[in-house]
Amino acid sequence: MTSPNLTIVVATDAQRGIGINNTLPWRLPEDLAHFKRVTIDHPIIMGRKTFDSIGRPLPNRRNIVITRNPGWKHDGVEAVASLQAALDLVGSTLTHVIGGAQIYAEALPHTSRLIVTEIDRKFDCDTFFPAIDPNVWKEVARDKHHSAEQGFDYAFVTYDRI
Ligand code: NDP
Repeated sequence: MTSPNLTIVVATDAQRGIGINNTLPWRLPEDLAHFKRVTIDHPIIMGRKTFDSIGRPLPNRRNIVITRNPGWKHDGVEAVASLQAALDLVGSTLTHVIGGAQIYAEALPHTSRLIVTEIDRKFDCDTFFPAIDPNVWKEVARDKHHSAEQGFDYAFVTYDRI
């Protein structure tokens, strides 16, 4: 069932790539700042691999990590065994799903908004975001930028479920 309070936040390359070797394929500090602005003060839900890639709980956010390993724990993190268990924890609070590919794919049917940083360049990637079906998602905002340092265009795009 779709939850009105569940939002996916993701950055994708020109072919929907999101990661390589359990890290981000690009360096884009403006996107990290955007991510912080969007997620601060709200719970975040992530897969265990994404947590490992970040390496620590993100401050001023309730950090919820999904893992099948019942023994997994980390200070400052709530570990759960399924996406449903994570959704049960947050109830009707505005919550962001922050990756990675496995958790995005599972969360997409439950999500009502996508906040996507679309990077207009192709990177070497081994993990991908699902296609954004225009019959399901409507673009409602597009904030375009250029990274002089990296030499590519990117945009902060919001899609709402139709
Ligand atoms: P995920 O972060 O989605 O984590 C996968 C892990 O989550 C699994 O190994 C398992 O943990 C747990 N898990 C997944 N599904 C379930 C389930 N149904 N029930 C219980 N536990 C589950 O891993 P990915 O490899 O898909 O993504 C990581 C990549 O994505 C990295 O490269 C990262 O940098 C990138 N990324 C990119 C983002 C972007 O915006 N560009 C954002 C976030 C990540 P366990 O093995 O412990 O059981």
